[in-house]
Amino acid sequence: MSNSRGVAAGRRGQLFIVSAPSGTGKTTLVERLVQVVPNLKMSRSYTSRTARTGEQDGVDYNFISRERFESMVRGNEFLEWADVFGNYYGTCSADTERDLTAGQDVVLVIDVQGARQVRSRGIETIGIFVLPPSAATLEQRLRGRSKDSEEQIGRRLDVARREVDEFERYEYVVINDEVDAAVDRLRAIILAERGRVRAMRSAAQDVIKTFAEESGPAA
Ligand code: 5GP
Repeated sequence: MSNSRGVAAGRRGQLFIVSAPSGTGKTTLVERLVQVVPNLKMSRSYTSRTARTGEQDGVDYNFISRERFESMVRGNEFLEWADVFGNYYGTCSADTERDLTAGQDVVLVIDVQGARQVRSRGIETIGIFVLPPSAATLEQRLRGRSKDSEEQIGRRLDVARREVDEFERYEYVVINDEVDAAVDRLRAIILAERGRVRAMRSAAQDVIKTFAEESGPAA
């Protein structure tokens, strides 16, 4: 049966991956997305980087030490993890599994290396690659947010140049030209994926059963 959230009851959640070069605005987009799509949760990663001003432990990330991170790697606790700009970032397998089992759809906002690892585990994912409208716009955004030094901006742009070539490994591409429009496109993707036969099979079968029950010989 389908519930009021438009999600088939009793089903396992779907795993979405959103990747984009740093500065494309993917976190803002996904934060907005989860507000407008019910039953969709943004995964909270673990990182060894220090919190920026305004960031909160347990909200933006789980901020942990490098030692703790390395011990979680040794304990095989990550679904994927990567070294991004000299800091570790990872998605906890148990957290993700708990949400998917509870029927919750989950979005991982992870870099292209992490996305490759999740796919290589044979896990079914729906990947969305977010692109900036152009390299120049990305550079402007990186400068505008003034979080980084010139050197860091240069490094982020170099990495971005390599990352954008990965877009064909994803199922969808969204160009973040305008936030509201990009969120609408992301929402459309999630809703369309929820309507796929593989996501709706068990709900559809429940409906089909009612046809068998009600069919009798015509009088
Ligand atoms: P930031 O430090 O700006 O929050 O994130 C830097 C980069 O790390 C972003 O490209 C972001 O997508 C990536 N990232 C954040 N969490 C994870 C994670 O759990 N796994 C991987 N592989 N990348 C992540």
